[in-house]
Amino acid sequence: MSVPVKYKAYTRHNIHTLPQYQHLGPALKQAVEVVSAVFPFRTNRYIVDELIDWSRVPDDPIYQLTFPQQGMLAAEDFEHVAALLESDLSARERQAALNAIRMRHNPHPAGQMQYNVPEIDGEPVKGIQHKYHETVLFFPAQGQTCHAYCSYCFRWAQFVGIEDLKFASREVEELIGYLRLHPEVTDVLFTGGDPAIMRTKILARYIEPLLEARLPGLQTIRIGTKALAYWPGRFVTDDDADDLLRLFEKVNRRGLHLAVMAHFSHPRELATPLVHEAIRRLHTAGVEIRMQAPLIRHVNNDPQAWVQMWREGVRLGMFPYYLFVSRNTGPKNYFDVPLGEAYRLFRAAYAQLSGLGRTVRGPVMSTTPGKVLINGVIDLQGARHFVLSFLQARDPRWVGRPFLAEYDPAASWLTDLRPAHNQKRFFFEQDFHAPAHEDRAATEAAR
Ligand SMILES: *Cc1c(COP(=O)(O)O)cnc(C)c1O
Ligand code: SF4
Repeated sequence: MSVPVKYKAYTRHNIHTLPQYQHLGPALKQAVEVVSAVFPFRTNRYIVDELIDWSRVPDDPIYQLTFPQQGMLAAEDFEHVAALLESDLSARERQAALNAIRMRHNPHPAGQMQYNVPEIDGEPVKGIQHKYHETVLFFPAQGQTCHAYCSYCFRWAQFVGIEDLKFASREVEELIGYLRLHPEVTDVLFTGGDPAIMRTKILARYIEPLLEARLPGLQTIRIGTKALAYWPGRFVTDDDADDLLRLFEKVNRRGLHLAVMAHFSHPRELATPLVHEAIRRLHTAGVEIRMQAPLIRHVNNDPQAWVQMWREGVRLGMFPYYLFVSRNTGPKNYFDVPLGEAYRLFRAAYAQLSGLGRTVRGPVMSTTPGKVLINGVIDLQGARHFVLSFLQARDPRWVGRPFLAEYDPAASWLTDLRPAHNQKRFFFEQDFHAPAHEDRAATEAAR
């Protein structure tokens, strides 16, 4: 076992105290200062000491994943913000100017909120989304922040801390009430932010009532988390790590499956003794771990990174699950990988795995109508096409039905694609009329 690392967070306010940061050149420091004035930035000692190879900065993939990058802002915005920070505007005026820039980069997740919030007796049930029949997403109020922030993540609008225990019980009561009315739900997926940010005693306030409710349809409690990558000590060295594992064991003893949906972006995250120990301990508690992540330019747009990660994951007893297409919220498409390129990369990686690694599916877009899989690219009657299908859909009748779109090398999302053969609409658009522009801003919540 490795030496425990004491938790210490770094943000824009104390990053200058980090020795590795002090050795960066002035341009990199300025990028961090300027971009972190607009986008949230948080990292921690484990990431900076164990994951980032500082001799490779700025190209190091984990540095790209967790530190603000100059390319995340358009050149004119970057200069504008740099000038703002130097100016003698009042704090209030400065904030207003920064907010204006943020608003342009943070599409309001309208589609998600409008379409997926369930109701009981006409009243919206807060903290829940129910889009696919079998699975309810649950956003515990106190799990809406993370151990570190991924630089491409735009979920930060919801990063709010609420330290009110009563809130937890009220929320979970509503969830249970909803599940009693919906016996078709087999899975509850705790998501955020990162629910593993919660202290064990708070998480228990959510999980124990769910177990006590003895819901006949419920099979699986899933926890979507990046803690194995960003803070594996959560399962090993934190003072309530043992309690957390006992809580997970209890889920198993009650006959439910506890699945950790682990967000792993790069093989580097699987390379420390601490993460190995965390995985081993979770397995001992009867937890199964599935690996998923978006494909991100500058971080993991290399098939060998995925091959290495999935192989190592299988060796450690985990299940490769999804490779997501990242949604284009990023300024200047800094992180975007076009669909055609994503498909070629996925295939190159998939071809190098044994069947045990081929549990992975991708590339997958989590869009307003559903999770769309890019199955392939084919030439038909002299024209190139994408072959697509739904892995999950808001209407289950759409699942698994192949459909075609015109191949477009620049397309990076479903909304960029046109149906094949000059058809006006995709088959699913006949019964579903969401304004197309909402698509980008919607879903992908389940990572
Ligand atoms: C991805 C997702 C799920 C879970 O889908 P699985 O394919 O079962 O992993 C559930 N709800 C929403 C809204 C999702 O985006
Ligand atoms: S992508 Fe997930 S882990 Fe990363 S900052 Fe966003 S919510 Fe947190």
